[in-house]
Amino acid sequence: MAYPSNAKEYYQNELKGIKEAGLNKEERYIHSPQGADIKVEFPSGAPEKEVINFCANNYLGLSSNPEVVKAAHQGLDARGYGMSSVRFICGTQDIHRELENKFSKFLGTEDTILFPSCMDANAAVFDVLLDRQDAMIADKLVHASIVDGMRLCKAQQYVYKHSNMEHLEEKLQESQENRFRMIITDGVFSMDGDIAKLDNICDLAEKYNAIVLVDDSHSTGFVGKTGRGTHEHCGVMGRVDLITTTMGKALGGASGGCVSGRKDMIDLLRQRARPYLFSNTVPPVIVSAASKVLDVISKTTERRDKLEKNTLYFRKRMTEAGFDIKEGIHPIVPIMLYNAKLASDFAKDLYYEGIYVIGFFFPVVAKGEARIRVQISADHEMEHLDKAITAFTKIGKKYDILGKGKKDIVEKYGL
Ligand SMILES: *Cc1c(COP(=O)(O)O)cnc(C)c1O
Repeated sequence: MAYPSNAKEYYQNELKGIKEAGLNKEERYIHSPQGADIKVEFPSGAPEKEVINFCANNYLGLSSNPEVVKAAHQGLDARGYGMSSVRFICGTQDIHRELENKFSKFLGTEDTILFPSCMDANAAVFDVLLDRQDAMIADKLVHASIVDGMRLCKAQQYVYKHSNMEHLEEKLQESQENRFRMIITDGVFSMDGDIAKLDNICDLAEKYNAIVLVDDSHSTGFVGKTGRGTHEHCGVMGRVDLITTTMGKALGGASGGCVSGRKDMIDLLRQRARPYLFSNTVPPVIVSAASKVLDVISKTTERRDKLEKNTLYFRKRMTEAGFDIKEGIHPIVPIMLYNAKLASDFAKDLYYEGIYVIGFFFPVVAKGEARIRVQISADHEMEHLDKAITAFTKIGKKYDILGKGKKDIVEKYGL
């Protein structure tokens, strides 16, 4: 077995370094379906415990929804388990095309192409549509999968300061010589839950003749009055050229993603996108369930309305309790603690109170910006939210941070 000893030593040292820096990501085992109430085990210590889940992207509470599970069973029974092929050889069923059409209708676009994941959609989209004559102008905080997708593309890269429209305009001016320019942003940014200024972005795109791409993974299904996404929320439906999004979050949470937008671009992606041409088809069981999800959320806004109500309630009550929360309307609620160890200890204490949340700190967020990220779901009932608020308040008192802002917390705990 050729496993060079210097390689082995290197990998072991890297792992040791990760542990020593306190950055080791320990996976917890969930012994139940995904939902508001889950059974969790920490393999390294804590025994199985029932907790209320506040860290899934299960925004609409559809991950284990009986209607969705039933549609998945129906897909399995009617169309089998796997396709054993990519789309263009013998991996396209009628239901794949049907789902793409439903996405276009829901998002208000011309056409849609499915991918095995949104990570794959982002890996594909830039390389196919742009080359070295072109420019990609991206928000500084775009998702890792966009960063990787941009790496695969030869177009020139520009970065503008997070949601800073003056800086974006500067970059548009700097890149005047490029053939095409593409402005690239997340619709909702995953750490702060803040929403991109898509109305301003679309105005600038029109002024400078640029293409707009929005990754709406944290929005599709619930942001906007009828849940179409950030473009609906910002009043720019029809003005965004490309939307990439995931089926792995609000839309049932299994897996799969898509690019939706201008027809010519989608057609070209179908010819040339490498993760589409060389990776297997989304299985029928997922296509069938996702299709059901789009039917349900096209017919009624009940779930996104409940999510909105839950979110407003939680944000209001936590603010009243004295927590320092990043303002907004999104179900991502960042509870700011600034100090990494405090965020981590706080999350652990909450776990023993039956509240499952995760502390985020550098390098996931900037240094000195440690926080607990709470994610609200339409699956949460008032009892869930009240229990969480009570537990947060108890632990907040323990660490004496209620009513305190960044300055006080940093004075007490350091950065
Ligand atoms: C979750 C997420 C992705 C990845 O989606 P997958 O379908 O799980 O690959 C891509 N972009 C953003 C903004 C996300 O939040």
